[in-house]
Amino acid sequence: MEAAIMTGHDLQAGTVTGVRSVRNPVTLARHVMHHSDFVMMSGEGAEEFASRQGLPLEPDEYFFSQLRHDQWQRALKRDQVTLDHSDDKKFGTVGAVALDSQGNLAAATSTGGLTNKKYGRIGDSPVIGAGTYANNATCAVSCTGYGEYFLRALVAHDISSLMEYKGLTLQQACDAVVQHKLVEMGAEGGLIAVDKTGMPVLSFNSDGMYRGWVRKGEEPSVAMFK
Ligand code: ASP
Repeated sequence: MEAAIMTGHDLQAGTVTGVRSVRNPVTLARHVMHHSDFVMMSGEGAEEFASRQGLPLEPDEYFFSQLRHDQWQRALKRDQVTLDHSDDKKFGTVGAVALDSQGNLAAATSTGGLTNKKYGRIGDSPVIGAGTYANNATCAVSCTGYGEYFLRALVAHDISSLMEYKGLTLQQACDAVVQHKLVEMGAEGGLIAVDKTGMPVLSFNSDGMYRGWVRKGEEPSVAMFK
């Protein structure tokens, strides 16, 4: 599992990668942010830190899901590395972005990564600026999609930079990156983002992206497809 969290008022961040027993990876990422001198921790070291922080750890069986196991078996047979959401059921990476009543933005992402990933592969989710980013001056972003492209395009930071340096709105920045740049690279995916006015943008170039949003004084909404 991999996870990241970032707070926009102080540009603090914590991320973990290659962990397998931590019940709540974003909570571990938050502990890395608040209770260590580091930003990123991996594997056994990250698990040792989790246990020293008193976070709940679980045996492998706790994480077993028949659906995801079957998906992995199919990918294994085809010798493919796939996006979990390119299969029939779309449960996988989870992201959250928020603006609080003090005007502070934050983003978090949690993932099991690509189905049938190998060799200690690390995706975009735990890489600050690629799959996760927050900055009170611009926006908070959490991405989902084929991580190798999101890593190379530094998607989350790119959106923030387009707002900061080019003066684009969040919608314009998301359109430029998700609907143009990523499409030209051949990358499937999307992101959820919110700007400092609380305007949410949920942008994707895939068929669907499970998403929900709520604004002050409004009923919560959810959507799956375009
Ligand atoms: N972005 C994730 C990764 O490449 C996968 C996903 O979003 O489903 O690890």
